[in-house]
Amino acid sequence: MSRHFLSQLTGSFAMPAAENPTVAMVEAAYQHHGLDWRYINCEVSPENLADSVRGARAMGWAGFNCSLPHKVNVIDYLDGLGTSAAVIGAVNCAVRRDGKFIGENTDGKGFLQSLMTVIDPKGIKAVMFGAGGAARACAVEMALSGLSEITIVNRDATRGQILVDLINSKTPAKANLVVWDHAFHVPADSAIVVNATSIGLYPDIDARVNVEMASITPSMVVGDIIPNPPRTLFIRESEAKGCRVIDGLGMLVNQGVIGIKYWTGLDVDADVMRRTVEEIFAG
Ligand code: NDP
Repeated sequence: MSRHFLSQLTGSFAMPAAENPTVAMVEAAYQHHGLDWRYINCEVSPENLADSVRGARAMGWAGFNCSLPHKVNVIDYLDGLGTSAAVIGAVNCAVRRDGKFIGENTDGKGFLQSLMTVIDPKGIKAVMFGAGGAARACAVEMALSGLSEITIVNRDATRGQILVDLINSKTPAKANLVVWDHAFHVPADSAIVVNATSIGLYPDIDARVNVEMASITPSMVVGDIIPNPPRTLFIRESEAKGCRVIDGLGMLVNQGVIGIKYWTGLDVDADVMRRTVEEIFAG
């Protein structure tokens, strides 16, 4: 019997890289499914990004994730972009297709996949707190999936307006801005309410999203992109009001599932991956 000693390679380029749990989550899925694939976490500085992409290409990697600070600059070294990555203007997952590295953005796709298990954004209205990189990815992905309107609520008006203008000019959805200097009253016709800020991230777990909780009603789906802790104060309070909720850990896990699907073509078990990250965050 001949034996085979050449694994398929994937990985991640980021700086800092050491605290990102994605490697454990992806490798758990590879092992669970008996795949001879590896995911290698690499600390890559901005000045070494070009060489790292060239190296991945030379070594025949199937693809790689990239995280801060490379999500925008990596585009210069890729051969093309997926639809939403082009609109968002940022890439966190490169995929080798026909020998070319194509940049995708799985941040928003991971969120959308969670959302779709609860509600289809087609033709409905959403409120989103935040206008940073993650908010941009989630808002664009919902807008490209047929959301009719989105209200961006952000402290920094300039940053908020940039996202509003992007959605209005590059997607079929309508967007408007509310500058966030008060407890926000969620309009009654909002079907989806999302915290896409960093409020509530460990260790600042008691931080509050500045919203009138009385304006959140049980018919609304409430999402939070904070993965750690998954059950944020905002999620717990919304659930107590009877809302259906989606958490940021689901978004993180789905990003892994989508990345692995892009690289290997296979649908992997999300539960195995979720358990791995839960154990890491619990520890
Ligand atoms: P950015 O720095 O790009 O954006 C941060 C956003 O949060 C801005 O809109 C900022 O508002 C807002 N914000 C921060 N603190 C406050 C506050 N105290 N009150 C009001 N608004 C606030 O960060 P990212 O978008 O890259 O990341 C945001 C969060 O998303 C992170 O905590 C990260 O953990 C999470 N994330 C989760 C992922 C997942 O898979 N679950 C994936 C990626 C990110 P302003 O513009 O006014 O400063």
